Amino acid sequence: MNLTYPDYYHQFSCIAGNCPDSCCKEWDVTVDEISAARYRALEGPLGDDLRRVLEDEDGETLMRQTPDRRCPMWRQDGLCRIQAELGEEALCQVCTDFPRLRHDYGDFVELGLELSCPEAARLILQNPSPAMIQSQVAGGEAPEYDPMDMAVLKDTRQQAHAILDAGLPMGDALAALLLYGYRAQAMLDGEEMTPFHPESAAEEAYSLAQPGSMEDIYALYRTLEILTPTWRDLLQGTPVQNSWTDAHRAMARYFIDRYWLQAISDLDLVGRVKFIITSCLMIRSLPMDVVGAAQLYSKEIENDADNVYALLDAAYACPALTDVKLLYLLTH
Ligand code: SF4
Repeated sequence: MNLTYPDYYHQFSCIAGNCPDSCCKEWDVTVDEISAARYRALEGPLGDDLRRVLEDEDGETLMRQTPDRRCPMWRQDGLCRIQAELGEEALCQVCTDFPRLRHDYGDFVELGLELSCPEAARLILQNPSPAMIQSQVAGGEAPEYDPMDMAVLKDTRQQAHAILDAGLPMGDALAALLLYGYRAQAMLDGEEMTPFHPESAAEEAYSLAQPGSMEDIYALYRTLEILTPTWRDLLQGTPVQNSWTDAHRAMARYFIDRYWLQAISDLDLVGRVKFIITSCLMIRSLPMDVVGAAQLYSKEIENDADNVYALLDAAYACPALTDVKLLYLLTH
C-alpha cells in the first residue's frame, strides 16, 4: 500500500506549555471505547476524577470541558494529567492522533497535519512547496472508489498545484484555480481533458469578475456554529485586505491536499474548490498574522464537520459566494 506525507510531517512535536492556543480547551474530547473503559477502571484519585468527568451521549463518551472551557485533565503547567501520570500510551485516540490527519482510501493512505494546531500551522505555512514523501507499507484493502474517478482527481489535483506554482500573483492563481475547478469537474463528469493555461484563465477572471463583498461572506460565517468568543468578535468586525504571501500559497496547497480527493465521496469537486477559495479569502481578511488566522479558522471551521458541510452547500446556494463575486474578491 502506498503511503504519502509531506516532508515536514515527522518534524511535528507538540510544544505543550509553550502552545499559544491548546487542543485542550474549547472542545469536548470524544474518548474511544477502549480508553473510556480503561479510564473508568482506574484506581486512585485519577480514576475517581476521570469517572466524574466522562459522560456518555448519543453512543459516544465525552470528556466534558470545565466551566473555564478547559479539558478537565489539563494542568496549569500546560501538560495533560493522563499523560503525566500514566504515560503517552494512555492517551485516548483523539489526543494521540491530533494534529495528525490520515486519509485512508483503502489501497493508499495520505497523511498530513491539521492547521488547527498552532505548531502544525507554523510547519504547514512555512513550507510553500513541501516534498511529498512516498513509501510502501504493509496492509490496505480493495478500494471502494471508482478507479477512473480517482485517477481524474489525482491528475487534476496535480494540475491545481501547478496553477499555484505558475508564477502568477496569489490572487490571480486562486482565480485561475476557481475556473480550473469547473474544468476538472467536467473531466470528473466524463468529458475529455482540454488544455488549461493559468495565465489566460487569470485574464478571463478579470473580465468575468462582478463586485463582491467580504462583509457578505462574514454574514454567512456568522450563521455557522461558533466555538470561541474571539471568532465571534472577528466576524462582527471589518474584514481587512492583507497582502497575499507565500504563507497563503502554502495554505492553499494544504487545502488542496486535504480536500481535493475527498470529492471521491460525492463527485462534487466544484463545491470543494469554492470552499478552498473562500477559506483562503477569509483567512487573508482577518486582522492578525497569517499563522494565527489560519489556525483559528481551521479550529472553527475545519474541525466542525457541520460547518464544512454548510459551506459546501453554501458554495452553490449563498449569493455571497457566486463565482463572479469570488473572482472579484481575488482580483481586486
Ligand atoms: S494544539 Fe498542538 S502544539 Fe498545542 S498543545 Fe495541542 S498538539 Fe500541542
